Amino acid sequence: MHPGFPLRSAGTVVAIDGPAGSGKSTLARLLARELGFRYLDSGAMYRALTLKALREGAGVRDGSAMAALLARTDIRLETGGEGQRTLLDGEDVSAEIRTAAVTEAVAHTAAHPAVREGMVGLQRRFALQEEGGVVVEGRDIGTVVFPDAVLKFYLDASPDERARRRAAQSGGRPEEEEEAILRRDGADESRAVAPLRQARDALRIDTTGLDVGQVLARLLGPARERLALP
Ligand code: C5P
Repeated sequence: MHPGFPLRSAGTVVAIDGPAGSGKSTLARLLARELGFRYLDSGAMYRALTLKALREGAGVRDGSAMAALLARTDIRLETGGEGQRTLLDGEDVSAEIRTAAVTEAVAHTAAHPAVREGMVGLQRRFALQEEGGVVVEGRDIGTVVFPDAVLKFYLDASPDERARRRAAQSGGRPEEEEEAILRRDGADESRAVAPLRQARDALRIDTTGLDVGQVLARLLGPARERLALP
């Protein structure tokens, strides 16, 4: 048997955590493609629930209201040729979950323990549902959701570089993006449950000044080694 075989069976997880604008999403998608793994953007789940709350006028700061909302919500993620589609009660909301209103409110949604518990269950089920491995990106993937992940990365970059990247995507002003990013970092790092932090056994990669190809090479080296790929 190939020595790497057991590491690539169903439930094999590569975890990528880090703050907004660190390059997680782009890199997780590319790494998954290189490895032939599925890809899971866990932030999209918190965004989808936030979108539903905003549409229904439910208070994102109210933990029990948000847990009740999650209980009657169907969130599905589908990986296809062009990346991931996020389905909220069957509706494709992949674009709408990226709006500024959702981005502003999502850290409140993610701070509620009962919401996190539900999301973690969904994420674990997603990883185990099919054969093959999965690259999962988020804030607590290596620390809480998959503490036994076969490989963990923590991506980071300076706040001004992260803000520049976000501004290039959104067409917004870097100064405003930086303010919003720092606010969200603060909320994600200081919440009581599953705060954003590097797992003890994660490889930290500072992506400041690196292009996508350079970061991908730094992820692929350890991934090939750990998964015993040629
Ligand atoms: O990754 P993205 O920026 O789309 O995540 C949106 C928000 O969802 C984060 O700022 C964070 O509040 C929350 N999140 C989380 N845990 C995850 C993924 C995202 O708390 N695993």
